Amino acid sequence: MSMSKISTLLDRIYESDLPSGADLEQALALENQAELDELFGFADQVREKYCGGGIFLRGIIEFSNFCDKECFYCGINKNNRKLSRYRMKEDELLKSVEYLASAHIKTVVLQSGEDQDLDPLWLKDVISQIKSRFGLAVTISVGERSAADYQLWKQAGVDRYLLKMETLDEDLYNSMHPKMSFKQRLCCLDNLRKLGYQVGTGNIIGLPGQSLKTISRDILFFKQGNFDMLGIGPFIPHQETRFSVFPGAQALLVLKTIALTRIVTKNTHLPATTALGSLDQDYRPAGLRCGANVLMPNFTPQPYRKLYQIYPGKKCIDEPVGSCNFCLESMSKENDRFIDYGQGDSLKLRKVGLNV
Ligand code: SF4
Repeated sequence: MSMSKISTLLDRIYESDLPSGADLEQALALENQAELDELFGFADQVREKYCGGGIFLRGIIEFSNFCDKECFYCGINKNNRKLSRYRMKEDELLKSVEYLASAHIKTVVLQSGEDQDLDPLWLKDVISQIKSRFGLAVTISVGERSAADYQLWKQAGVDRYLLKMETLDEDLYNSMHPKMSFKQRLCCLDNLRKLGYQVGTGNIIGLPGQSLKTISRDILFFKQGNFDMLGIGPFIPHQETRFSVFPGAQALLVLKTIALTRIVTKNTHLPATTALGSLDQDYRPAGLRCGANVLMPNFTPQPYRKLYQIYPGKKCIDEPVGSCNFCLESMSKENDRFIDYGQGDSLKLRKVGLNV
């Protein structure tokens, strides 16, 4: 495609309230270096205009790897009997939070598998203590729960909730999530929004059966939902899953999806995910150059960190806790950016209901 045609295409996507799926597919198919430079440069300008040069840090603590679900792509699915399971105790978790706070990080992400044995009152108590002792922004990512649990945690002071859809193609979703329901997951997202959470979702790029058409649909959903944050990561096959035989994602397609999501959603927080750093090379710097504005240092202590392997070859699995800041500072400087040690709340105007 000529440069002027690419420029017209990207302008049309950027300016439209809801771009056409065909335009997004065309942009996702761009291949040669000059085309990609145009796409990534455009996304970088949109990021600068709507989010500025700062990179927000979200410190993640993976406090339990128990999960009741059987997602075909995930290494901690309940059928992986080879995995040792753990649940961090409250004092261990709070010690990790203390460490994170001492590294000047203002957001903690508490993540676990979807574990129905997780006591909502236990988590409420942990949240209350984090709020009163450290004053951090708290993001929860523990999957589908009742509206009552979401309400309990919101009242305890949680700011944000991350619930990834992974794909917005209902048939594809149902084909790889046994005993789960696409509609139920959407309903959870809607409940979270109605309760006043800053809400994040996201997708996996490179899933078997996915196409440029399904990815373009994901991006349209991201736009229509006006999400506060969106996690876009690569599929990396794990040997203890049903999808072990499939090839992993191409990094380039993940980067193109990040770039187009930035152009379409403008000011949504977009991380250069740890999974993006765990491919054949670390693509997080490339992610920062095509629209991403968030990094997620891992504060899960050993020996647990090694056991939260949703995909193999996870970046920074052996590094000492807290060693991330120096590395991420260097990464930001090398890309003419800076770490913003602020809380990094949503840049969206508040909106009730998903409207999709
Ligand atoms: S993706 Fe989430 S819900 Fe599915 S098996 Fe993994 S941790 Fe459990």
